[in-house]
Amino acid sequence: MNAILLRAKIPLTEADVVVSAGRGMKDPGNWGMIEELADLIGATTACSRPVADIGWRPHHEHVGQTGIAIRPSLYIAIGISGAIQHLAGVNNSKRIIVINKDPEAPFFKAADYGICGDLFEIVPRLNEAIKEFKASN
Ligand SMILES: Cc1cc2nc3c(=O)[nH]c(=O)nc-3n(C[C@H](O)[C@H](O)[C@H](O)COP(=O)(O)OP(=O)(O)OC[C@H]3O[C@@H](n4cnc5c(N)ncnc54)[C@H](O)[C@@H]3O)c2cc1C
Repeated sequence: MNAILLRAKIPLTEADVVVSAGRGMKDPGNWGMIEELADLIGATTACSRPVADIGWRPHHEHVGQTGIAIRPSLYIAIGISGAIQHLAGVNNSKRIIVINKDPEAPFFKAADYGICGDLFEIVPRLNEAIKEFKASN
């Protein structure tokens, strides 16, 4: 019989590292790269409210004014604009990294580190770089 390995995720409210994504992902089928990044760095996944509202992600992942308020050491926001209602739930994070293709995205003002560019290029490259780093360390 094959053993099934289930790795329990740390609940969002207790997570030290959170990888979150929004409508910039375009399609729920694109979340594999987000899950992969989260797995690589031991993070819990989150999302913006519209993404949960349209059923791309479960509602228990929705952070913000009307969702869960979190205060991780690191919050990585991918394809999320940074609306005030979203920031209300995440702006107590110790460090915020934003990946967004729009240099005017409000989230950059709240970010400690920002990467301006296409998430569909950046996130796969980031995942490969982390895998290479792990393999050589
Ligand atoms: C009363 C009220 C309560 C609310 N509560 C919440 C809440 O709790 N949580 C919450 O999140 N929202 C909440 N909202 C909604 C909030 O106002 C925003 O509409 C929402 O946060 C936007 O979600 P988003 O950033 O995923 O989508 P969008 O605003 O559509 O932003 C998508 C972002 O992705 C970027 N992007 C697109 N394609 C790419 C790409 N290829 N590469 C990189 N970046 C890309 C775009 O530049 C854009 O910045 C609330 C609104 C109201 C009125």
